Amino acid sequence: MKFEIDLNKLNDDELELIVQLKKRGMLNIGELAICPKCSSYQVIRNGKRKSRYKTKQRYKCKSCNYKFTLNPSKNRYPSDIRNFVIKSKLSLRKTRDEVNKRFNINMSHVTVLSIKKLG
Ligand SMILES: [Zn+2]
Repeated sequence: MKFEIDLNKLNDDELELIVQLKKRGMLNIGELAICPKCSSYQVIRNGKRKSRYKTKQRYKCKSCNYKFTLNPSKNRYPSDIRNFVIKSKLSLRKTRDEVNKRFNINMSHVTVLSIKKLG
């Protein structure tokens, strides 16, 4: 059975639940692909790209048409901020508030999720 979830329509708590279910392998919705450009979840599979060692799934963002592979960009935020987000046991929203207060930045909860998911 196939169904689609529009992740953009979910609130923080519902997103959090999906991440938790996915972490425990209880939800099979494929990769939680997020557009690196506009942070949209409206992402479709767009063929595969073969590199020397493995084949990477390519994605295309339906919102901004940006094409990308799930190759986490390590340098979007400094590692201390990323580590704080990755290690945080708080909810997405609380992590976002805490990280913004602590580092004086303006990160969205979607970016928090993206860092948690993609590293
Ligand atoms: Zn996009």
